Amino acid sequence: MTLRTATAVINQQALIQNFAVIKAITPNSKVLAILKANGYGHGLERIALALPEADAFGVARIEEALALRACGIVAPIVLLEGFFAPEDLAILAVNDLQTIVHNQQQLDAINSATLSSPLKVWLKIDTGMHRLGVSASEFESFYQALSSSKNVAKNIVLMSHLACADEPNNHNTQAQIALFNVLTKEHHEMKSLANSAAITAWPNSHFDWVRPGLMLYGVSPMQPAQKAMPSLLNLQPVMTMQSSLIAIREIEAGETVGYGAAWQATQKTTIGVIAIGYGDGYPRHAQNGTPVLINGRRVPLVGRVSMDMITVDLGEQSTDSIGDIVILWGEGLPIEEIASCATTIPYEILCNITRRVKVNVIEHVINSSVQN
Ligand SMILES: *Cc1c(COP(=O)(O)O)cnc(C)c1O
Repeated sequence: MTLRTATAVINQQALIQNFAVIKAITPNSKVLAILKANGYGHGLERIALALPEADAFGVARIEEALALRACGIVAPIVLLEGFFAPEDLAILAVNDLQTIVHNQQQLDAINSATLSSPLKVWLKIDTGMHRLGVSASEFESFYQALSSSKNVAKNIVLMSHLACADEPNNHNTQAQIALFNVLTKEHHEMKSLANSAAITAWPNSHFDWVRPGLMLYGVSPMQPAQKAMPSLLNLQPVMTMQSSLIAIREIEAGETVGYGAAWQATQKTTIGVIAIGYGDGYPRHAQNGTPVLINGRRVPLVGRVSMDMITVDLGEQSTDSIGDIVILWGEGLPIEEIASCATTIPYEILCNITRRVKVNVIEHVINSSVQN
């Protein structure tokens, strides 16, 4: 008997469906599909190769961009934090990588470089998030300097990033959009502002390029209060994390389970042990009661999350068997809910998936004749 250990099932059909949802919401925008952090844990190359309709890909590190080129991706690639050292510029030019520019050091490095071809640049403006970007007062001089640099290609994209787009009632967003409009209004360049939350909730932020990350993977970018959003938008989870039951035992009222004897049974029950733990990326801070899906029903996590295992309360009448498949998040069990049980966000859970987790890709079948 081979028991399944932690396995991320990746549904390409769901990815393509989510991309179509984004296109339907933003029919007039190009899509910069965001693949940083290993495609939000789904596999960098795997996700890029499954999205031939994306207009460009966004990554955070030069290594991620080179990995995409190495697997044959010819679409534009944008470095979302720009380059980190002047030596990087030659690599950008040779591999046709586009860069964000957000500070004076980058501008100076571009102006003093000798490059095989001019760089395609996205100029990032700080409209209120105060993380990356040139300030509103510096913007015009940066724009002029880049426009007149021999090392910068024509058609600079003007961009900014929203701090609070996931809160539908937060006034910061309209203030950021307004400032972005005031600063860029006179420039006939492409513009970009919207991440997933802004695509979902702020239509006047869409501009020429949208930058979806989380929603591509079928996860709601909105605050937990808007939990209904994914179904509303018909987003489908691309990843379903599975494992299996590897032990089942009965315990009596008063007996405890796991490290620190942190959970105690109030009545006779059946404990299931599942082969997944924080060593796979299951969040260690998932609290007692975090749901796990087994044989079509939800059962609660009990006791501390271990490195390689978790324990659940199957109930006294359990008929579950060793080897039964368990779903930790994904289809039928939203990762948004698991994140909230672990006082974190879905982004962090996805990024924390470790190397030993197996991957099982369900390929998108073109012209499939499956009937509903
Ligand atoms: C990560 C990132 C995005 C995507 O954010 P999501 O919330 O995942 O949609 C968009 N733009 C920039 C600049 C980013 O760094």
